Amino acid sequence: MKAVYITEHGDVDVLTYGDVPEPEVGPNDVKIRVRACALNRLDLYTRAGARGTRVRFNGPHILGGDVAGEVAETGSQVNRVAVGERVVVNPRITCNQCRFCVAGQEEFCSDAGMLGSSVSGGYAEYVSVPAVNAFHISDSLSFEQAASLPTVFLPCWTILMRKAKLKPWETVLIPSASSGVGTAAIQVAKNVIGATVITTTSTEEKANKARQLGADHVINYNTEDIARRVKEITGGQGVNVVLDHVGADFWPAAMASLAVGGRYGICGVTSGYKAELQMGLMFLRYQTVFGVFMGRKEDLRQIVELAGRGTIRGIIHQTYPLEDAAKAHQAMEAVKFFGKLVLTVG
Ligand SMILES: [Zn+2]
Repeated sequence: MKAVYITEHGDVDVLTYGDVPEPEVGPNDVKIRVRACALNRLDLYTRAGARGTRVRFNGPHILGGDVAGEVAETGSQVNRVAVGERVVVNPRITCNQCRFCVAGQEEFCSDAGMLGSSVSGGYAEYVSVPAVNAFHISDSLSFEQAASLPTVFLPCWTILMRKAKLKPWETVLIPSASSGVGTAAIQVAKNVIGATVITTTSTEEKANKARQLGADHVINYNTEDIARRVKEITGGQGVNVVLDHVGADFWPAAMASLAVGGRYGICGVTSGYKAELQMGLMFLRYQTVFGVFMGRKEDLRQIVELAGRGTIRGIIHQTYPLEDAAKAHQAMEAVKFFGKLVLTVG
């Protein structure tokens, strides 16, 4: 089959388009004919071998976790998914056997991995995944749309719906509206919960797109003081919830913007992972800080359900044919996009 793979870590030029053997299908797996695979920053880290993503190369490694396509083959033990079914993949692969998985707390799985990072993924015509990771998608959802959901919506869903329990009468601060996570978080906060959404971005063009997505207030972080603007907008109260996928650069302003009783969820540290915490203020203000990596399979089922109804949608900036994966990586590195970059597989 055709695939884009790497045999060593490095720059975009390590991405190679060529022929590799089709993946094997274990008894509990499904083989998916990939139609779309969305990029994530994790793809860039894995390509470079950065941030704990070094691959033990044992032949070509295929990147890509956010896959949508049609089931081409099912393992002997699989009875929940049928050949020909349109599906999207939860890229977080758990063992389904440890005490956390058995208890329904699969996000704590002690033997978990990520499709495309710890095992070969979806920059290919076919990918094999555990059947429990494949979710039926409605005909109203395109493969490109479906592929752009999992990795950006799962942490947002976990933070806003399950952990912070953002309420319709509350206000949430979401940095970097143009990123995949930003576009997802704005929609969950506004379209699903109905909360007031404050977001940040760098240009007026991106600010307009953020407003179209549902943001009530957009702060230009290049020209405005985030904490001061949040105070103005909230009448001095601050925000009830912060959904931080940016990390170090955003932390000081966001913590200064957090209300009494506020909840601060972290699901990414693209700008850096060390920050200073004012513990005294934190306990006086009854604040909570917590981390989230992805989410549960049930979270993705709910996300896919609402995407099928049109309540939320993947925001696609541009699609590229599989063989142009390197161009897509360059575009992501250049940070000139609003939403997801998606590879299509013909
Ligand atoms: Zn487990």
